[in-house]
Amino acid sequence: MPEAPPDEEPALRVEGLDVTYGRAVSALRSVTLTVPHGQVVALLGANGAGKTTLLRAVSGTLRLHRGAITAGRVRYGSTELDGRDPVAAVRAGVVQVPEGRRVFAGLTVDENLRTGGLGLGRRRPDQVAEARDRVFTLFPRLAERTRQAAGLLSGGEQQMLAIGRALMTAPRLLLLDEPSLGLAPQMVYRIAEVVREINTQGTAVLLVEQNAGMALSLADTAHVLEVGEVRLSGPADELARTDAVKRLYLGETTDDTATTGTDTTGTDTAQTAARTEGQGAA
Ligand code: ATP
Repeated sequence: MPEAPPDEEPALRVEGLDVTYGRAVSALRSVTLTVPHGQVVALLGANGAGKTTLLRAVSGTLRLHRGAITAGRVRYGSTELDGRDPVAAVRAGVVQVPEGRRVFAGLTVDENLRTGGLGLGRRRPDQVAEARDRVFTLFPRLAERTRQAAGLLSGGEQQMLAIGRALMTAPRLLLLDEPSLGLAPQMVYRIAEVVREINTQGTAVLLVEQNAGMALSLADTAHVLEVGEVRLSGPADELARTDAVKRLYLGETTDDTATTGTDTTGTDTAQTAARTEGQGAA
């Protein structure tokens, strides 16, 4: 397992981050946030707000999507991450589970798991066995289906496999992009339980979710991204009580005036909410 950064250090520190795609698309502007060691941090926001882009900047996959960091920095412990090198991120202990359960459909469950951690080079068999045991303890269904082609698994099982494959790298920080998307409520509940368990075992989680209720129930802190900028930040339970979050992300009807979260721009939160709503929030 990669060496943990000192406990008093934030595990992940994103400072003043700007990301663009080509010359025309400014996807993130001045984004600053931290994921402290061992915590769950939720990232909420409407479609196109920049959530996936932030995960790509951390996991080193921006270049694959023709994106680039144009200002600011991403650090994990003492490692500088430049958004362009996924292997460096995995070696530092950071791994992303992309949206859409991208498993290798023609490979078996076991073969999919073995592709996890390939970028780490040669590892001791006992380290690989330990990682596999952890995956099978978390997901007994995968243990029962090791020889089955991944493409024949249900959507929920494929999501388990995608998370399991990431866990094969024994990450210290797991980046999860919409793990509940398209899953039945019972499976969403199971995935939430597993995220909590993974975190209890000592892995920090940066969680992007459209299911804000689930994300806020799991998270220590949360941030709301709006058109590429962080507009609200705070303890997850406090944010869940703000009118803006209740109305836009939890589907509740609210009194428009009272808010308690920290609007990072100092803008009135109800105005911010109204603007987000106009852009078709989730
Ligand atoms: P969603 O919930 O729909 O996945 P998101 O909050 O994750 O949205 P991003 O996917 O990060 O948002 O997109 C942020 C902005 O960057 C959007 O305007 C999007 O159109 C743009 N974008 C994302 N990927 C690319 C790309 N490969 N090339 C050009 N523009 C992109």
